[in-house]
Amino acid sequence: CGIVGYTGARQALPFLIDGLTTLEYRGYDSAGVALVTPQDDILQIKCKGRVAALAELCERFDTASTCGIAHTRWATHGEPSDANAHPHQDCDGTLSVVHNGIVENYQALQEELSRAGHTFRSQTDSEVIAHLVEDALAGPAEGDLLTAVSLACSRLEGSWAMALVDAADPGTIVCARKGSPLVLASTDDGAYAASDVTALAGITNHVVNLDDGQLARLSPDGTVEVFESDLSVCASPDSFDIDW
Ligand code: GLU
Repeated sequence: CGIVGYTGARQALPFLIDGLTTLEYRGYDSAGVALVTPQDDILQIKCKGRVAALAELCERFDTASTCGIAHTRWATHGEPSDANAHPHQDCDGTLSVVHNGIVENYQALQEELSRAGHTFRSQTDSEVIAHLVEDALAGPAEGDLLTAVSLACSRLEGSWAMALVDAADPGTIVCARKGSPLVLASTDDGAYAASDVTALAGITNHVVNLDDGQLARLSPDGTVEVFESDLSVCASPDSFDIDW
C-alpha cells in the first residue's frame, strides 16, 4: 500500500504512475488516481489489480493535469474491487482522499454520517474521511481544506497517512499523518508527497518527514507547509538529506 501526490508546473500523471510503480513492493490489490483537471473538476480513475492496469485505463481519459494524488490499496475493510479502490469522494464528488491505514471507529462515523444524509459508495473504512471533510468544509472550516482535514482527523481513531484534493481549491494538496509514513518534498518544479522516499528518487535529495499528528499543505509553486494538529505552524519540520 502506498500514497503519492504532486502539484506543480508539470503533468502530474507520469510521476503518479511512476511513484506507484516504485511503491509496488509494499504490496497492493488495487490502484487509483484523482486528478484536478484544467476545468477545476476532479477526475478519478481506479481499478482492482496492478498499477500497469491503472496506467492502461488512464490512456482512455484526458489526463492533462498538474495536480493529483494516487494510491495503491492493501484492503483491510471491504474486498478488493473497483468501487473499494481509492481515491474516495464526498457526496457531490468535489473532493478526493487517498488513505493508508485503518479508521478503527468507521462504523460509528458511517452511521452518524448516513443519518445526516451522506451516501456511501464503498465498503471501506476510508470513505468516512471524505464525508467528514465535506461536512467540515460546509460548516466550521468555512471552505478551508486544511482546517477541514484537521477537524476530520480529530474525529478519527486509528492510523493514517492521507492526501486530499478539493476542486474548490485546485492546485492544493493537504496531507495528514498518524501512524503510517509520509514524506514530502519541495522542488522548483512543484511539491511532492510519498509514503516512502524511494518514490522520490531522481526528484530530490532533501525530504521532509511528516511526524505523527502533523498536517501539511502543498502548493503548485513547490511550497510545503507543515502544521501541528492544532494548525499552529511547525517552524522546523523534521527533514533529512538522502544520498541516493
Ligand atoms: N483501510 C483502507 C482500506 O481498506 C486502506 C488500506 C491501505 O492502507 O491500503 O481501504
